[in-house]
Amino acid sequence: MKLTLMSVILLITNIAHANFSHAPKSFKTKDGQAIFSDFQKADYNISYNPQTKKASARSIITFQITESGMPLFDLVPTPTNILIDGESVVTNTIKSIDSETTYRIILKTLSPGLHTMEINSPINEGVSFSDIGVSSAFWFNDLDDRQLLESYLPSNLEFDQYKMTFHLDFQTLSNQKIYTNGITTKLENNQFVIEFPETYTSSSLYFHTAPIGRYPEKSFIFPSINGRNIPVIAYASSTSSNMETIKKSILKSLEGLEAQYGPFLHNTVTVFIAGSGGMEYCGATMTSLSALNHELTHSYFARGGFMPANGNAGWLDEAITSWSDEGATSRPDISGVISNMAGNSEYRRYTHGDAYTYGKAFMAHLNYKFQSNGGLAAFLNQLILTDAFNPMTTEEFIRKISSFYSEDLSSLFKKHTYTRGVNGPDSQRPVHMKMTIKEMQEFL
Ligand SMILES: [Zn+2]
Repeated sequence: MKLTLMSVILLITNIAHANFSHAPKSFKTKDGQAIFSDFQKADYNISYNPQTKKASARSIITFQITESGMPLFDLVPTPTNILIDGESVVTNTIKSIDSETTYRIILKTLSPGLHTMEINSPINEGVSFSDIGVSSAFWFNDLDDRQLLESYLPSNLEFDQYKMTFHLDFQTLSNQKIYTNGITTKLENNQFVIEFPETYTSSSLYFHTAPIGRYPEKSFIFPSINGRNIPVIAYASSTSSNMETIKKSILKSLEGLEAQYGPFLHNTVTVFIAGSGGMEYCGATMTSLSALNHELTHSYFARGGFMPANGNAGWLDEAITSWSDEGATSRPDISGVISNMAGNSEYRRYTHGDAYTYGKAFMAHLNYKFQSNGGLAAFLNQLILTDAFNPMTTEEFIRKISSFYSEDLSSLFKKHTYTRGVNGPDSQRPVHMKMTIKEMQEFL
C-alpha cells in the first residue's frame, strides 16, 4: 500500500493520540494541577568527563500538553537547572495522589500547546571510569518503581513513544565501543550519535559503552525467514565465556521464535551475557545464558509484538513470555489462580511478580480453552501482525482477544487477574528474579 502525505500525517497524529490516551488522569496538588504530557522528541547530549570522572546530560525535549497545568515527567537524579521555553523553572518530586509512585513536576503552570524543556542533570548510576576509558550502561529493571530510562535521563512514562537521539561526547577518551539497539554514527573517535526508532518508550532502548576490548564479543548474521540478514552482536562479562556456544544458543533461540511467531521484529540483535536472570529491550537483552530464550521472546512480547502501556499491563508480556518459554503448556483447571496483576493503581509503573506464576498459568488455560482454534499462539500471531510496537493496556488486550475468539473474556480476566488472592500483592516473586540497577553495576 502506498501512503499519501496526508494519510501519513493522519497516521502519525493518530499514533500520538493513541499514546496519550494511555496517560493516567491529571490530579490536584498543593501547588496546582499536575498534568501528564506528550513528549514529541528528546535530544540527549551526554558527556563523560575523564578529569572529574563524572557523567552528565543536557537534554532538550519538546512536549505537548492539552490542558493548563504543571507538567509531570520523571528524572531520578536531581537536575542542576531547567529552562522551559527559555525561562528558568524549578522542579520537585511529587507522589501520585495514592502514593503509588513518584514523579518530577515542573513548578510552573503552562498553557496548552507545544513547549521546549532544556535540562542539565548528572548521570549517577551505571558509570565507572578507569585508566583506559569509561564503562556506562543504562540498564533497566521493570519489577520495581522508577528503574527505567528515568534512572539516568529525563523521560516520560512508559505509555509514550517518541524519537530519542543520543549525542555522546567522550572528550579525551578515544577508545570507546558502543553496544546499542539504535543506529550509531561515529563522528569522531570520541563522538557518536545514536538514533532510536520513534516507536521506542522509556523501557525500549539499550545503551552500553565500554573501552574497546573490555569484553569478549562475537558478531555474526542471523538469516531471518523473510530474507533479511540481521546483524547480531554477542558479548559477555566473563573472559572465559565460550562465544561459540553463546552464538549457537542465540541462533537456536531466534530460529525457534521465528518458527513460532514469524519474522524477527527488529533490525539488529544485541546480547550481553552477564549475571543471573535477565532484562529485555527491543532486539536486545542483558541476560544469563539460561534466561536467554525468555529474554529474546520478549522481543516479540513487551518489546515488539505489543508493548506494555503501563504497570498494569506488564503482567501480560511476562505471563505470555514465561508460558511460551516454558513449553507453551495447556491447563484445564485454574481454580486457584487468583491475582490482582492487572487492577492495581492507575499510576502503577512496574510489573506484578505474580505474572511469572499465576499469569503463566492463566495463559496456559487460555491455550487449553482455545485449543480447537489454534490455541493461544493463533491469537498471538495475529496480535503481532496488527499491533507490533503498539503500547497496550490489559483492557485493550482483553477486547482484542475476545474479538479474535468471538467470546467475551472480560469476566474470566476479572476473576483471575483483577482479584486480590490469598497471597496478597506481589507475594510471588519470580524464580529468576531480575537484578536491581545497583546489582548490575558490577558488570560495567
Ligand atoms: Zn520476562
